Amino acid sequence: MTCGFVYHEDYLEHKTGPGHPECPERVASIVDVVRSSGLLQDLVEHKPSEAARASLEAVHSADHVARMHEVGKSSSARLGGGDTVVAPGSERAALLASGGVLESVQNVMEGTWSRAFVCCRPPGHHAEQSAAMGFCMFNHVAVAAAHLRKEAGLERVAIVDFDVHHGNGTQHLFEQDPSVFYASLHQWPHYPGTGAEGERGIGDGEGTTLNCPMAAGTGDKEWMNALESQVIRQLEEFRPQFLLISAGFDAHRRDPLSGTQLTTGIYRDITSRLRELAERQCEGRVVSLLEGGYNLEALAESVAVHLEAMR
Ligand SMILES: [Zn+2]
Repeated sequence: MTCGFVYHEDYLEHKTGPGHPECPERVASIVDVVRSSGLLQDLVEHKPSEAARASLEAVHSADHVARMHEVGKSSSARLGGGDTVVAPGSERAALLASGGVLESVQNVMEGTWSRAFVCCRPPGHHAEQSAAMGFCMFNHVAVAAAHLRKEAGLERVAIVDFDVHHGNGTQHLFEQDPSVFYASLHQWPHYPGTGAEGERGIGDGEGTTLNCPMAAGTGDKEWMNALESQVIRQLEEFRPQFLLISAGFDAHRRDPLSGTQLTTGIYRDITSRLRELAERQCEGRVVSLLEGGYNLEALAESVAVHLEAMR
């Protein structure tokens, strides 16, 4: 049983500028901890290639994909209301992030790996069909879910998102699609404003969107409760054939972008429960990718315990 660890040094080449929370040091600090702790001995390192632009067009408009190629070609631009920097190395980093997630789901489908974690940036879950937003250019987890449905031919794919921010982009891309279950735990009310409990999907997709809004100040107990009583319970009924995790670690009590109070250890528990679910439901097939997490030390520690439960 092997777990992939997917990383490319060009994730560092997405230069967001001084003081930006979504900085290259995020993935560098994770790689430092993963190496120095010896965790890498239990993981299979893999360096991905860029995703083909055509595979992004399964969820994004061709205009958006072309725009991300043009914007930032020669100088730095600010999109999504100003928080999303697109600079000369950004498109390559984002394509390598989508590529890392795609190669991971392919390796897991082929049985080369059992599971994988993609240590990528920029993150993806706020990116909409035709817009960059919230530090995100391309929605990597959505690209992977679309691949699993359309190319791998799976009938049911689940995405669990425990980033402290609601994954508006992912929800919008699949809210009418009953074959992709999107479940999110997030602080609410909070950025980006979507993710109320009453948002449960639209039309045929009603019932395959699950939002668990968590108040500021909530901690390990409340989050674990919501995971067990809502996410796990509903996914047991959905019976996914593949589990994707939008793993953001910014609900940590030391994170500067949230008001929730999770401790490092909760990420081991959440991961173990999701892994058990995957072992019961989908032959253990899990691919997790990095979304948010902005306190460098808390982020690296949290990813380390996530990997302890993934390996
Ligand atoms: Zn976040």
